[in-house]
Amino acid sequence: MDDTIRRACVIGWPIEHSRSPMIHGHWLEEHGIAGEYGKRAVRPEALEDFLLNLPRHGLVGCNVTVPHKEAAFEIIHRANPEGVTALARALGAVNTVWLDERGRVCADNTDVHGFMANFMERAPDWTAPGRHVVIIGAGGAARAVVAGFAREGVARVTIANRTLEKAERMAEELAGIGEAALAAAPLSDLPALLPQADVLVNTTSLGMTGQPPLEVDLSPLPEHAVVADIVYTPLKTALLAQAEQRGLATVDGLGMLLHQAVPGFEKWFGLRPEVTHELRALVEADILKERAGRDGE
Ligand code: NAP
Repeated sequence: MDDTIRRACVIGWPIEHSRSPMIHGHWLEEHGIAGEYGKRAVRPEALEDFLLNLPRHGLVGCNVTVPHKEAAFEIIHRANPEGVTALARALGAVNTVWLDERGRVCADNTDVHGFMANFMERAPDWTAPGRHVVIIGAGGAARAVVAGFAREGVARVTIANRTLEKAERMAEELAGIGEAALAAAPLSDLPALLPQADVLVNTTSLGMTGQPPLEVDLSPLPEHAVVADIVYTPLKTALLAQAEQRGLATVDGLGMLLHQAVPGFEKWFGLRPEVTHELRALVEADILKERAGRDGE
């Protein structure tokens, strides 16, 4: 193997559908960097050995996706507690792993950066102070979104979830991240929450191709409200289409995927890449191609 080439990859179980190789491959080519970024299926029982022996696998780092984000946090935090960022410690999950100058394994959660960078890019006039954000869902991705808004300095975040106890636990666990008051609610409270919401975010898998729709009537939202969806297949979910019809500002989920990749690329390949229209168009075309393939089946 050529030692001068820096190699990274995304790991998951399964991993076939990851678009991370397309994103990093685009940046490597754009900047003429002698590097490689692939994907590797890693079984849960092989995760610890993989993460603690990256050089043996020919790697300078990796992205971590479903179902390994929490387990990767536990493993790396045990091996090198100082190498895990405070944000990743607060979230208990990591998605970006690299080696420091002494070869010690380090990790961060860049989903928070990914969501907020995309949100601020798409809603540039939006400001955090005094805002109430309503988040639908209390899964892994919701944690990153709640943390992002709490750190940004909003006044209030309400987490509405099918399983109320999960939302309550999340509100308790993330309470220290910023000054925001965090609250939990059942999904049935949404109609009562919407008139006081400045931002509404779907973080559930509802509305994704192949999943049930997200049934929510957006008419009670105030006119200045911003509606975001982190689902990006389809690119324009039914939630975003409904918000657009009402004339509300919208933020789609694809930008989160693109922006979360930026810090990892910088760590592994030494250059901070940009999320350009060209990159977005490339990934959009791939999503549309996959959809056309499915429709033709
Ligand atoms: P997760 O941890 O499994 O959480 C799933 C969430 O969806 C939970 O809140 C769950 O509620 C809710 N849910 C699922 N089915 C439901 C139903 N039938 N009715 C009501 N609620 C339901 O998943 P995740 O990792 O957070 O991912 C969630 C979505 O975000 C996925 O579609 C994923 O592709 C997307 N995502 C996008 C990005 C991006 O870069 N744009 C990044 C990460 C994830 P309960 O708690 O009640 O089960």
